[in-house]
Amino acid sequence: MLWARYPTIAVPDVCEAYDYVIVGGGTAGCVIANRLTQDPRVSVLVLERGGAKVGWLSSVPLFSSHFASDGSRSRVLRSTAQKHLDDRTIELVGSNSLGGSSKINAMLYNRGIPAEYNAWRDAGRVGWGYEDMQRCFTRSETDLDQDPRNPKPYHGTSGTIVQATTTLGIPYVEDLNDPSQPAYGCTKMHYTMDSNGRRSSALTAFLPAHLVSSRSHNLHVCTPVIVQRIDVSSNSGEVSAEGVWVQSSTGGPSRLVRAKRQVILTAGPVNSPQMLMLSGIGPADHLMEHQIPVRKDLPGVGSHLQDHIAVPVQFRVPLRDSATQMQLRPWVIIKILIQYLLFGTGWLLAPMLELSIFIQSRLLDEKSRVTMRTKADKDASLPQNLPDIEIMPISWGDVKKVVDGGLTFFNVSLRPTSTGTVRLASTDPRADPVVDPNYFATENDWHVMRSAIRFSLRLKQELAMQGYSIEDADVPASDADEDIDTFIRNESQSTHHSSSTCRMAPELEGGVVDDRLRVHGVRNLRVADSSVFPSILGAHLVAPTVAVAEKCAEMIKEDHGDGS
Ligand SMILES: Cc1cc2nc3c(=O)[nH]c(=O)nc-3n(C[C@H](O)[C@H](O)[C@H](O)COP(=O)(O)OP(=O)(O)OC[C@H]3O[C@@H](n4cnc5c(N)ncnc54)[C@H](O)[C@@H]3O)c2cc1C
Repeated sequence: MLWARYPTIAVPDVCEAYDYVIVGGGTAGCVIANRLTQDPRVSVLVLERGGAKVGWLSSVPLFSSHFASDGSRSRVLRSTAQKHLDDRTIELVGSNSLGGSSKINAMLYNRGIPAEYNAWRDAGRVGWGYEDMQRCFTRSETDLDQDPRNPKPYHGTSGTIVQATTTLGIPYVEDLNDPSQPAYGCTKMHYTMDSNGRRSSALTAFLPAHLVSSRSHNLHVCTPVIVQRIDVSSNSGEVSAEGVWVQSSTGGPSRLVRAKRQVILTAGPVNSPQMLMLSGIGPADHLMEHQIPVRKDLPGVGSHLQDHIAVPVQFRVPLRDSATQMQLRPWVIIKILIQYLLFGTGWLLAPMLELSIFIQSRLLDEKSRVTMRTKADKDASLPQNLPDIEIMPISWGDVKKVVDGGLTFFNVSLRPTSTGTVRLASTDPRADPVVDPNYFATENDWHVMRSAIRFSLRLKQELAMQGYSIEDADVPASDADEDIDTFIRNESQSTHHSSSTCRMAPELEGGVVDDRLRVHGVRNLRVADSSVFPSILGAHLVAPTVAVAEKCAEMIKEDHGDGS
């Protein structure tokens, strides 16, 4: 079926109050709604602006990915002019449907090495080390590559996020989500895909239509609806979230929906800080500029924005090896479609990225040659070993540049030290906020990206030496710093991994939420999406976001003694 029905309710049918009101039915919102309504005594309302878009096309991996989709599930905005990138504005993609970014992402699934979470623990975040997080990952996974006769203890076998690993390519690390893997390496990627070759999103995994129907007595999903602001009371110095103001996306009167226990904010890294600021929680001077009454002066809101910036270097390769054949030979699509429908295989599974390479730049010399490594450099539990470069070989290219088959090495800076901001453009909740990622504000970020690009150029040389037919299509003029820097300024693009705009940290350190994801100084309000990472992880962000949401649900159940 190209279109399918999904059990949503309209604004007039929303009850006066629910135990929990979830703002944003995206990746994290779907997880939390599922987990909280496991207890039939607990009532939950999910409010999502983008509608339920659940047709067949949204299940086909290639057609549903933002870059090859019709754009109906995406919300695209542009950054402010980036002063370190010759004032270019950068396209930033977010989501606009139930299931959120997990409905449009590239389906890559990796948790990040244990050191990511151990670094949070070492910075004082109680309960967030890898040992604490492992159960939050396994609970939501089904590892389709797992041999049931030889189960690995670090993978779930009956969870709801479905994943598969590719069997192609030459892996140096067998399983990128194995916590005992080395801290760096070349590894097969895992995907959020089911056994029938369909996208497994947070929506299909956590809030499928049949689950919402079967829990209709305690779970309501209202969409398309815009949450305008959180209703925040202030009595005798005690600030508290009481509910939210909502309006149908098609207009009509606004309504207040009360939260008997809590409002849970999961509107994503751009809209969660926007929602807090619209509700009077944020940097006081900025709120006053917009005549918003200040309920809680919290300078960390919308600050510390981080993203994984990427620079593609592109090569010409045989057309048969590249997905550009679908653009250059459109009739191939028919064969590919038949292959997918009959066998569930082929290019529609979007296997453009089979493997990825994770490196620590400190272990590369000035020519990006790998230097001698010790055993300790491999220890994936140690924060000093966190990789800061990812190189993603993608069998795709800009056909205007590659003309033939394209192979792109996407050079990603995994641990940028630059930070930016999300600020209000206006008090209209429908208007996109002003997003300034402030890319390449530090010398560290330039150095890391130069190292990554040089490594990619070496990799290409190595492929050519092995006899593979590969030619430069879009690369820096030379490997001198000036030429690489010019290339970076011209070609940088976002990987759409914005995060850390409501970071988990003490208030005095610019934090917005505490270790239990409660907003500092505001009762009954939690944030639990990709905006709470203390700093951006060196991983693709959907797995960590799901794990944060799992942990949030776990903590809420602990707080209220709900069944789990
Ligand atoms: C194009 C793209 C490709 C990506 N590729 C990958 C990948 O391959 N692997 C990976 O791990 N990560 C990837 N990511 C990142 C990852 O998907 C996200 O980091 C993660 O899904 C974010 O989850 P979230 O819950 O924080 O936000 P989202 O999933 O974006 O959910 C936020 C939700 O809130 C809703 N909302 C916002 N404001 C309001 C409002 N006022 N009222 C009501 N609803 C509102 C939005 O419509 C949205 O549905 C990609 C992201 C994008 C955009």
